[in-house]
Parts: sequence; structure tokens; C-alpha cells
Amino acid sequence: MNMLINGKLIDKDDKVAVINPFNNETVDEVPLAGAEDVKKAILAASQARRLMERMSSRKLSRILIDVHQELKENLEDFAKLITLETGKTIRDSRMEMQRSLETIQLSAEECKRVYGETIPMDAAITGRSVFGFTIKIPLGVVAAITPFNYPVNLAIHKLAPALGAKNSVVFKPSLTAPLAAMKLAEIMGHHLPPGAVNCVTGKSSEIGDELVTSDLINKISFTGSVATGLSIAHKAGLKKLTLELGGNDPLIVLDDADLDAAVSATMAGSYLNAGQVCIAVKRIIIQDGVADDFVDSLVEQTKKLKVGNPLDPKTDMGPLIDEYAALAVQSKVEDAVDGGAQLLCGGQRKGAFYQPTVLDQVQPDMQVVWEETFGPVSPVIRVRTEKEAYQMANYTKYGLQAGIFTQDINRAKRAVKCIEAGSVLVNKQSTFRTDNMPFGGFKLSGIGKEGVKYALDDMTRTKMVVIG
Ligand code: NAD
Repeated sequence: MNMLINGKLIDKDDKVAVINPFNNETVDEVPLAGAEDVKKAILAASQARRLMERMSSRKLSRILIDVHQELKENLEDFAKLITLETGKTIRDSRMEMQRSLETIQLSAEECKRVYGETIPMDAAITGRSVFGFTIKIPLGVVAAITPFNYPVNLAIHKLAPALGAKNSVVFKPSLTAPLAAMKLAEIMGHHLPPGAVNCVTGKSSEIGDELVTSDLINKISFTGSVATGLSIAHKAGLKKLTLELGGNDPLIVLDDADLDAAVSATMAGSYLNAGQVCIAVKRIIIQDGVADDFVDSLVEQTKKLKVGNPLDPKTDMGPLIDEYAALAVQSKVEDAVDGGAQLLCGGQRKGAFYQPTVLDQVQPDMQVVWEETFGPVSPVIRVRTEKEAYQMANYTKYGLQAGIFTQDINRAKRAVKCIEAGSVLVNKQSTFRTDNMPFGGFKLSGIGKEGVKYALDDMTRTKMVVIG
């Protein structure tokens, strides 16, 4: 697969292999860009921004629909590629592609609704005789940087709103799983003027700074880990920033909850994509009275999960992205067990595979819940009261989404008020997300919102017009 710079597909002698974590086979190779290549991509985007600014939103909407059509026709190829490069099950890859289609469709619709505002100027003492209104104008060049875990949909969440708002883009997908994202950029490139979309692959240590510090970049839209997000924020200077970072989302189960529903939600939330989801259920906070029944049922269901070849449609969970990721999970689980947590099932690693794991009697300061664990682990923290449950939910550096299971509307209302997170979901687990809802966390989980309408607005600047 090649990079895309100024409308041309670019290869390099220096390459890196993209490895299938299921069998360690090479799926493909991608070029390793140097700082010079990134400079060229930024320059191309900077020249193309004028063309983009002049394009009508009607035309851009049409282009996004055409891209949507092409993705739809190639859905199965995309899904297979995602599975090969990430180890995600084919069922989940198909679902990612269905969501990707929706995200791009929403962007095609939303880019026709970039409204300014009329300002009641006569509300101010000097404003009586003037008209005032705002217009939303493009930012210019957007750098889009994405992680490995949802390589297509997360890219579309940045690229489609950026382009829909008439910006040009330099896109850097994750080097661990770049293939489907590069294919997406190539398709977009066919429909747009040269330089409007550029896609570069390379080691972050070689090209990251060039992209992040360039004066020609007007906005960085980043999704990834807290460590990388903070480093980008320190280096970026005066640029608009959207940072969608890690999570440590709680699922609170109160003693009046529908336990079957709560267990199903935990299964869906803890093990989706082998737990490698920013909004995975990463802490289960449960009231003592129902904890034993809940845990028994969770363990029973967890043991039934079919772990194996992610291309087999019957597989529930594939490997993690690589062996390092699985080792990191192993180390956190071992640390918890050493500290007194009870390992009720799972806990074994083989290569990049980590068995779905339930840990009981977890304490809030243990690494497995204090840091973000990006793997298939359900850590159970027991609490006595409702109040303690909310305090525990907030006892974290993160604040992405949070789920609560209760049948009492008053408890639900209190939870919504108390919990410090970008979204609070009642009787749903944190992995629930629709691509049009405002999405983005508090605290170390980031700044800014995605979700098409919100992302699109954030891809514009506001210009005030006063007519005297
Ligand atoms: P990561 O931070 O390692 O990498 C993300 C991207 O940043 C990759 O493209 C990587 O190459 C690039 N990068 C790394 N260092 C860089 C630098 N110095 N300058 C510029 N770019 C650099 O994250 P990851 O391991 O790919 O993804 C997992 C993380 O992403 C988890 O923490 C997860 O919670 C988070 N995530 C968040 C969301 C969200 O919407 N909040 C969604 C998905 C994943």
C-alpha cells in the first residue's frame, strides 16, 4: 500500500511490514516516510486549501456520497483487511464498516448545514444602527492522527467533517494498522483535487514532530493515548486541538438493577474488540447485595466466549493488536492478583491472545483499574452504598463515558448529576455510541467533541460581520 501526497501514490525504499496478530504473517508493507515527505504533504495541503475553500458545500456533499458508495461496494474487502491487520473479529469489522458508512453519510448531510448566527446588535448601547452576523469559515489545513483500534471509522470521524467544512487534510494513520485507512484515503483522493487529502505513514519518532509543529497546520485532530495526546498538546503551539484520549469507563450496577441486562452489558462492554476500545467497560462497580449473583453469572458467560481465528464468523474474540499489548495486560492482571484480587477466570496469555478475564475484589488503586487496561479484563470493585458507587466512579484520572444500571429514575438522575464523564448512559454500557451524538471526555480523556455535527463545527472558525 502506498502513501498519498499531492494526488500521487508514493512508495519508499524504506518500508515496514504490517503483521497479522493472529498468525504473525505479513499482510502488506507500507512506506516509512521521512520528515521531507511530511513537509511535502503539508505543502500540498496548504496549496489545496484554496481550492477547497472555493468548493460549494453541495459539491462536497456529493463527493462524500460518492466516497460512501465506493466504500459500500468494497465493504467486505475493507472488513477483511481490518481483521487481518488488527485481529478484530470479522463480525466487528463489518460492524465498523457499517458505522463508517453512516458516519460518512451523516457528514455528507451535515456539511450542508454549516450555519452562522444573527447577532442582536441593538442589545448593546453602540449597536443600534448596525446589522451583525457570523459566518463559519474553514480552518485551512487539518492534521488527522488516528489509533489502531477502529482504523476506518475513527479516520472518517476526522476526515469527512474536515473536508465537509472545506479544509484540506494531512492524515497519519497508526503504523500498526494503516492499511484500511490508507485505502480509504486513496478512495477519497480520487474524488478530490490533488493535495486535498494526503496520507503519510511512518514512525512517529521520525515524522510526528514535523506534523504537529508545522506552522502550516491549523488544527490537530488526534485520537489515541493520553501520553501521546499530552505530548502533542505540549508541542502544538497555537493550533486548534481536538484530543480524543483514553478512558477508564465504569459500569455501575446498583442493587435494584436488572442483573441479566447488566451482565449482558458487561459482556458487550468488556470484551468488544478484545477490550481494546476507548469506551470499553474497564471497571465494574457493584453494590455488595447483588455482587455475588452478578459475578457468578459474569464468569459463566465469560467462559462461554469463543476465542480464536478472527476471520471465522463464529469467533467472539480474536487476539490483541500484538504480543506487547497482551504482555501489558498480563502484567496488570498479575499485579492485581499479587495485591489480593481474585482471578475467577482467564488470566492466560499465548502470543497476542489474552483469555477473557474476570477479577473480583479489585481495589481502586490497583494498576489494572487505575491505569487504562486495553484488554479483555472485567475488574469488579465492590461497594456498599449508592453514594460510594459514584465516588468510586469518579476516582479516576479519566472521564470518557459511564454506564449505570438501576430501575429507579431518582438514582439515575443522581448518577447523571454526580458522574464526571462526557456521557452518562442509563441502562446501557459505555461502549454504546452512535456516530451523530456528541462524543468526547472530561479530565484526561481529552478536549473537544466528535460526532459528526460537533466535529464539523470544530473544523471551522467563526468570522463576525458587522454592517454599518
Ligand atoms: P497511540 O497514542 O500510541 O497512537 C495514536 C496515534 O498517534 C498513532 O497514529 C501513532 O502513530 C501516533 N503518534 C504516536 N506518537 C506520536 C507523536 N509523538 N506525534 C504524532 N503522532 C504520534 O494510541 P494507540 O495505541 O494507537 O491507541 C490506543 C489508545 O487510543 C487508547 O488509549 C485508547 O483509549 C485511545 N482511543 C481513544 C478514542 C477516543 O475517541 N477517545 C478512540 C479510540 C482509541
